[in-house]
Amino acid sequence: MTTEILSVDDGLIKAKDIILSGGIIGMPTETVYGLAADGRNPQAVKKIFEVKGRPSDNPLIAHVHKDYDINKLVTVAHGYVYDLIAAYMPGPLTLVMDSKGVVCKEAVAGGDTLALRMPSHEGCQKLLKAVNVPLVAPSANLSKHTSPVSAEHVFNDLNGKIPLILDGGRCAGGIESTVLDVTGKIPRILRAGLITKEMVEKVAGACEIAEHKEGDRVKSPGVKYRHYRPKCDTALFGIDETDKAALLYDAELKKGRTPYIMCSDAVAEKFKGKNLLLLGKSGEEVAFNLYDKLLEGEKKADIIIAVSFGREDGVYLGIMNRLKKSCG
Ligand code: AMP
Ligand code: MG
Repeated sequence: MTTEILSVDDGLIKAKDIILSGGIIGMPTETVYGLAADGRNPQAVKKIFEVKGRPSDNPLIAHVHKDYDINKLVTVAHGYVYDLIAAYMPGPLTLVMDSKGVVCKEAVAGGDTLALRMPSHEGCQKLLKAVNVPLVAPSANLSKHTSPVSAEHVFNDLNGKIPLILDGGRCAGGIESTVLDVTGKIPRILRAGLITKEMVEKVAGACEIAEHKEGDRVKSPGVKYRHYRPKCDTALFGIDETDKAALLYDAELKKGRTPYIMCSDAVAEKFKGKNLLLLGKSGEEVAFNLYDKLLEGEKKADIIIAVSFGREDGVYLGIMNRLKKSCG
């Protein structure tokens, strides 16, 4: 199979035909690129798990356009959910609610809940409007590899395995959506992301963080521990361990290997003259650059030596969750 990359406008009709006849495609969103199928079609959904090598007990997120009536798919159990929808959707927020069974059980790992999202990406909205069905999609990378934030990244992982990638440019967000369980009285963060705990609290009055629960239904612990990994070696140091990071860098050089330091601009000065993968200044910049720099690094480096940021509040909670899994 040859994999075509087309702009959203040029590829829209083709994309719709493929999806509605049970195929899968790469699609842009504002978080990362997704690998999308018609969520009502079990055969199409199975292709996603096959192509990615994803364990079938890891459920997918259903994506709908902004005018889609979500009551067709899920039951909204609490008033605060409407407030969250009004405040943050479309956007990088996924709500886990009781499913009405329209999205097939293969997509939700046989469970009773459905994770639902409305992407704000304009091209993605066009696709969702064109098909007018829920598109289930995980990130468009091979299982455990770093998530793609450009059409080229998707191509590098899935060339020959899918017919089409819609190119909607570089993802503006850079890390996956915040996954929020809203079946209970208090919303619970299952996966941290760009919609922060503070932002949820502001609207819903309260918010809890579920410990070690990226995807509640993954039963065997550790299955998802190695995740987001680049193909080269990695190491992770705290912001107070820049000396150790520099020592490892020099030791790697002596072995004849090519090390790269990956860090925020704030500590770049400490690594003057060294190979750098710079992540930027703010949390938003770091989120935007993280996967791109990991994927750039795996091409250039034998080892990426990452230095963390000294904080895990706000957006940094989601960033650190990814950094620990990718480099820790
Ligand atoms: P990804 O495949 O990278 O897009 O990630 C999808 C995330 O959403 C994973 O962490 C899933 O475990 C999580 N998820 C999807 N559906 C559900 C659900 N019904 N309940 C809990 N977590 C879910
Ligand atoms: Mg993923």
